[in-house]
Amino acid sequence: MEGEPDRTRTDPDVRDDVRRHLPRTDTVLAEPRLVAAAGRLGRGLVKAVVAQVQQRARAGEFPAAEVVERVVAALPATASTLRPVLNATGVLLHTNLGRAPLSQAALDALLAAGGTTDVELDLATGLRSRRGRPAFEALLERVPAAQAAHVVNNGAAALVLAATVLARGREIVVGRGELVEIGDGFRLPDLLVSTGARLREVGTTNRTTRADYAAAVGPETGFVLKVHPSNFRVTGFTSQAGVAELAGLGVPVVADIGSGLLTPEPALPDEPDAATWLRAGADLVTASGDKLLGGPQCGLLLGRADLVERLARHPLARALRVDKLTFAALEATVRGPAPPVRLALHADPRRLRERAARLAADLRADGLDVHAVDSEAVIGGGGAPGVTLPSAALSLPASCAVLLRRATPAVLGRVESGRCLLNLRTVPEESDPTLAAAIRQVGATAAPEPAPPRTETTLAPSPTGR
Ligand SMILES: *Cc1c(COP(=O)(O)O)cnc(C)c1O
Repeated sequence: MEGEPDRTRTDPDVRDDVRRHLPRTDTVLAEPRLVAAAGRLGRGLVKAVVAQVQQRARAGEFPAAEVVERVVAALPATASTLRPVLNATGVLLHTNLGRAPLSQAALDALLAAGGTTDVELDLATGLRSRRGRPAFEALLERVPAAQAAHVVNNGAAALVLAATVLARGREIVVGRGELVEIGDGFRLPDLLVSTGARLREVGTTNRTTRADYAAAVGPETGFVLKVHPSNFRVTGFTSQAGVAELAGLGVPVVADIGSGLLTPEPALPDEPDAATWLRAGADLVTASGDKLLGGPQCGLLLGRADLVERLARHPLARALRVDKLTFAALEATVRGPAPPVRLALHADPRRLRERAARLAADLRADGLDVHAVDSEAVIGGGGAPGVTLPSAALSLPASCAVLLRRATPAVLGRVESGRCLLNLRTVPEESDPTLAAAIRQVGATAAPEPAPPRTETTLAPSPTGR
């Protein structure tokens, strides 16, 4: 754990006291608060914390009498070490922060499904039912142009399944300008070739026509692949054959939209959506669940019933299948209220400025160096390149960035021009008090001893203490 080093006391008296009074591990574990903690977190985890704390007591860092309190303070909140982070980066889909945050409706559904649940059982008839059917139905209600739906582990898995089932040992015809790298070294061509399919590249980087595809399509063709190059833009002398032009070549058109928009999003006119591409003639659309759809990590497959059925029945589908938690969260995302990503996308810039002004005023009243500034947010997650959304941010001394990242809850901002910027478009409004508390916490502990007279830029301790 990173953090402030303990102010160690290693005087011989303390070490002597510890030798005589250090309680046995079992005695510490029998303390009622630690018995309760063991029920919540597991005995092994609590025991490990006790051992660490005792080790430090033995080293003379603190007296034996403090052991129990120190253990209680050091216990984690949950048995998982994943910690909640307030995303103040202004990047709506932050890959390192788990992409889309789930809506409360999706979180509730996930919790309810966490126990035993009817994921594969029809409670009315007592018979086995199709796994995940309610989630498929929710998708088809939103995208009537799709005859059937299937869900796998992520967008990459959806492509792997399509390539394996429809093109293994055969060719995937794809435009040169669409062989993209998604991020973190993940390259679409490598993924497709790994399934045993061959790539038949057509056209040039900047221009590809229907005739290029038509000339390449033949008996060896498994499908024509159309990819939305989601994380970059080619401008100038460019043109790519659209889905509508590729339909009618006599082979299936598989279209990777990436973002997961089910229907058009007016705020992002250049992002493709499943309904539009299916209506234009795509036979199968693949997409991610945790990008602009705002749901759990998963890969959506929407389209022709016969193709979806073939994919879902292939042995590989079993290896790529999602769990009950994903189905629960996905259905609630598709049917439920707008998820946080959509709320962030549509946040009113005036409201963001009001929030920034109020937060900054409150924190300045506590003596902190916090100012409201105009800023910009982006979609991120490899989506909507070039799109910026007007936003507002809190501007703090740059040194706060590290301290906020290590605070509880962790707050992730950005350092820009020597200031730490906390962008409010990616912070849900109901988290403003939490954000303010984290800033006060950092303000209180980060401050150098203020030497009077105070300058305006000194990060002064909060009079409230925390
Ligand atoms: C993100 C993306 C993928 C990969 O999806 P994952 O869910 O990350 O596996 C594939 N294709 C496109 C166009 C994408 O944008």
